[in-house]
Amino acid sequence: MLLKDKTALISGGSRGIGEAIVRAFVAQGAKVVFTFNNAQDKAELIVQELGADNVQAVKCDVTQKDEVLNAINSSIQFLGEIDILVNNAGVTKDNLLLRMSDEDWDIVMDTNLKATYWLSKSVLKYMLKSGGAIINISSIMGIYGNQGQANYAASKSAIIGLSKSIAKEYGSRNIRCNVIAPGWINTDMTEQLDESSQKEFQQSIALQRIGQPEEVAQVAVFLASQMSSYITGQVLQVCGGVK
Ligand code: NDP
Repeated sequence: MLLKDKTALISGGSRGIGEAIVRAFVAQGAKVVFTFNNAQDKAELIVQELGADNVQAVKCDVTQKDEVLNAINSSIQFLGEIDILVNNAGVTKDNLLLRMSDEDWDIVMDTNLKATYWLSKSVLKYMLKSGGAIINISSIMGIYGNQGQANYAASKSAIIGLSKSIAKEYGSRNIRCNVIAPGWINTDMTEQLDESSQKEFQQSIALQRIGQPEEVAQVAVFLASQMSSYITGQVLQVCGGVK
């Protein structure tokens, strides 16, 4: 098992990619705390299924600093220490830039970027002694940009800059920080895409198909494990080869 005896905190583990990462980490032997915001029923089912000895779910709106700090305290209580942090919680609020409200700009930046900053900063303290791995979930939109997603793309680009800086600042402490930039993955988030955008996007993918959350989770396991012991500050695109 690649993550035997490791401990992990995963934000937004109640659905989609985050849920797949929770399941993959537990399958590889890790003890996990994950956060949820609205999907309490879903979170409780996951804990029931995977076992309360292995997994704990903590309610946490990642845009609220006191809730983030509380989630970290609960994690330390349950896990003892945090070896791996996955910043996964994220939202979209799409619109053309000229029509975008300040509110939608702020929600996306706060959820995707500020929470990644808060969680990374707070968890780093616990990693200084024994090292660790931080995995931040960006998006290929943060690399290529996308019409109607200026706020989302900006937040996801910034995550890359933040992660590369963490990698440089804390590499000497054996803390690795890498980014996964998924392409189009089959979750609630992408269900909102209309049919014509889906068709157009599919044609731009070398593998000609949408990805599954488990295909992102496998890469998260790799980046969290010793299999990637000499990899830090990198962005891995999990996108089926976007052309
Ligand atoms: P989903 O919409 O399926 O799930 C989003 C998760 O984030 C849920 O667990 C949700 O919790 C949590 N979340 C949202 N807002 C908050 C908040 N304010 N506080 C705490 N948790 C919150 O999204 P995906 O699984 O598709 O996306 C996961 C990550 O992957 C995101 O960062 C996304 O940007 C990124 N990504 C996704 C792609 C895709 O194609 N799906 C492509 C590229 C990147 P709850 O349900 O409990 O409210």
